[in-house]
Amino acid sequence: MQTHNLGYPRIGSQRELKKASEQFWTGKISEQQLHEAASHIRKGNWLLQQTTGIDLIPCNDFSYYDQVLDTSLMVGAIPARYQALIHEKQLPHIDLLFAMARGYQKDGYDVTAMEMTKWFDTNYHYIVPEFTANQTFYLHHNKALAEFNEAKALGIAAKPVLVGPISYLLLGKEKESGFQRVDLIQQLLPVYIEVLQQLQAAGATFVQLDEPCLALNLGDKERKIYTEVYNSIQQQVPGLHIILASYFECYGENLDTALSLPVHTLHLDLVRCPAQLSDILSTNIANSPLHLSLGVVDGRNIWKNNFETSLQFIQQAVATVGTDRIWIAPSCSLLHVPCDLDAEKNEQVLTPGIKQWLAFAKQKIQEVVTLKQLASGENKEAAAIALQNNIQAHKNRQTSSLIHNPAVKQRVAAITEKDASRNNVFATRKIQQHAALQLPLFPTTTIGSFPQTPEVRSWRAKLKKGELTQAQYDQLIADETTASIRWQEEVGIDVLVHGEFERNDMVEYFGEQLNGFVFSQNGWVQSYGSRCVKPPIIYGDVSRPAAMTVRWTSFAQSLTSQLVKGMLTGPVTILQWSFVRNDQPRSETCTQIALAIRDEVVDLEDAGIKVIQIDEPAIREGLPLRKENWATYLQWAVRAFRISASGVADATQIHTHMCYSEFNDIIEHIAHMDADVITIECSRSQMELLDAFAEFKYPNEIGPGVYDIHSPRVPSQQEMVALMHKAQAVIPAEQLWVNPDCGLKTRGWPETKAALEEMVNAAKELRLAV
Ligand code: GLN
Ligand code: ZN
Repeated sequence: MQTHNLGYPRIGSQRELKKASEQFWTGKISEQQLHEAASHIRKGNWLLQQTTGIDLIPCNDFSYYDQVLDTSLMVGAIPARYQALIHEKQLPHIDLLFAMARGYQKDGYDVTAMEMTKWFDTNYHYIVPEFTANQTFYLHHNKALAEFNEAKALGIAAKPVLVGPISYLLLGKEKESGFQRVDLIQQLLPVYIEVLQQLQAAGATFVQLDEPCLALNLGDKERKIYTEVYNSIQQQVPGLHIILASYFECYGENLDTALSLPVHTLHLDLVRCPAQLSDILSTNIANSPLHLSLGVVDGRNIWKNNFETSLQFIQQAVATVGTDRIWIAPSCSLLHVPCDLDAEKNEQVLTPGIKQWLAFAKQKIQEVVTLKQLASGENKEAAAIALQNNIQAHKNRQTSSLIHNPAVKQRVAAITEKDASRNNVFATRKIQQHAALQLPLFPTTTIGSFPQTPEVRSWRAKLKKGELTQAQYDQLIADETTASIRWQEEVGIDVLVHGEFERNDMVEYFGEQLNGFVFSQNGWVQSYGSRCVKPPIIYGDVSRPAAMTVRWTSFAQSLTSQLVKGMLTGPVTILQWSFVRNDQPRSETCTQIALAIRDEVVDLEDAGIKVIQIDEPAIREGLPLRKENWATYLQWAVRAFRISASGVADATQIHTHMCYSEFNDIIEHIAHMDADVITIECSRSQMELLDAFAEFKYPNEIGPGVYDIHSPRVPSQQEMVALMHKAQAVIPAEQLWVNPDCGLKTRGWPETKAALEEMVNAAKELRLAV
């Protein structure tokens, strides 16, 4: 029995890589210093895994930005727009890499970045490869070889990790029509073969090829390509042991293909798909030479492994295939969890009671090693103590009063269909709302946040450090809110917002006030490039001890006779952007959050707020990877939203907001959410996203975003009128609102004011024309 790891976090336990890259970008450190910081992180990760006792340690899991971008550079898939930077400007490799990731505007060059998108259902974003019809590939940069040699120099025979060739193609995008990217495999495979041969020549015996696309719904064509490609690799690089890794879902209908590939080891994500172990063991696996890598330690979440459960899996596998062909591993790369729980020193925040239930990356590799010891009888005494401690920790988690709140559980169990529905259908509510709100045609509003200027953020920092008292901080927030209300009145916006100045982040702000949430101090996870996020940890039953937003919303409303919209984050988004407890279904946790938000909605209504927005930007990204699981998710996710929104009278108008989502395949579910108004990001697609709503004959009101908030560029009145005309061509005018794409927190005030003035004028122009 052996242990291995699929990948270790690359940002460094103190976010060293973030700091070094950002300093390099602003010219504060040299390329040499950046490389030194990176090699320090790699070395630290390798030595840590070695001393912990991992048998096969990954290399090339490091990246300056993203492993898919690294793959594009490896195989020379560098889009045409960067060629001048390479040949004319002679940009060094590291600058080319960052130019592709972030764009390049310097010395007369102006080249846009490559697109970025979410890596499967994680919050990690990769750089999308771009392919053309006559795409060619060549070995441009063998980073895997460099890292292998670097580890070798430290005495570590590492396992290079590569994005597998088929997943690499499938994760990319065709930049012109007339071909299918997966057919480029003929041109791509020789480059992979060359890379693998070079690795073998340098002494590598194992290589991990990540093919997570095997977890998706593939067709026969793709499955056939998998068979051909892996046979070809086996023939052309004989003797190199390939570990084929897929994760995040079951192999599903791709399982037979996966099992038939001539690879050394097949990795299984037994956290996301525990059932597939029995399926595999019931095949002819006992008589095949295939090794199985059992991904029993959750690489996606921060909970301590349950040793008893994992040992059952391991023993079940050993009983069929024997110990020699079993590997123990995390379920996927540890990229998706924070580095080190030991770095959490503040016991006031992360109390020992909760901390004992957690494991970050460093703790998880120890778990992998301990599981092997327990299963194979090595290091008996220490392993037995570890097992007892583990059993104890789980026992006390199961019964802990910190987690379990019977009142919350009872309330969830008692929810009725009526609780998940407004009193009347939209057609009826609409009449009451129009009478109560007296809004013009094409009402204008914004999505919630106004600029979080450096000053606003500095107040929060000073409050934390004790340099401002709570009263001083509150006064500053009150002044900023007042100014924003005054200014919105002057511009003539119809439904005002308070500006969200008091909020650090749309999930953290609520998590900090809800029971059942805890925050780490240093639990950073890479989101993209140098950007890291620190997701809240939902450890227990969620409840709301007190109103969370009433104070600032009421304050804003007290300043004006105009309508002020209350602003909340929805249950699905709070769930999606947190580390969620794994001792009950996600749907249950989501429903608990929904009840807390529902109470807040009712409190806002009681305080006289007539329009309330419940943001759900993450509802689409929560969709399961396999289509057969969509219906179940959508059922509970939509229900959670409806529970949160349905405690109010017909005349109270509920808004929701979503961004950067495609709606085509889920439009009926969006409609079933039954928000009175939905605002969506739309401007970048030139209103195309509205087509799904038009085709569905979406009955409620819609605010298609009329300008992109990601750029400081001020859109003109005519541009926005033109976009709204496109909207009016497919959606009746009475249903339409006018608003930006999303919140304005990342913008500055000058462009925000200028753009919203143009937007209000656009709405006025539209009204005249009706
Ligand atoms: N109300 C939030 C804001 O305006 C919405 C943010 C989002 O959609 N991501 O900032
Ligand atoms: Zn948004």
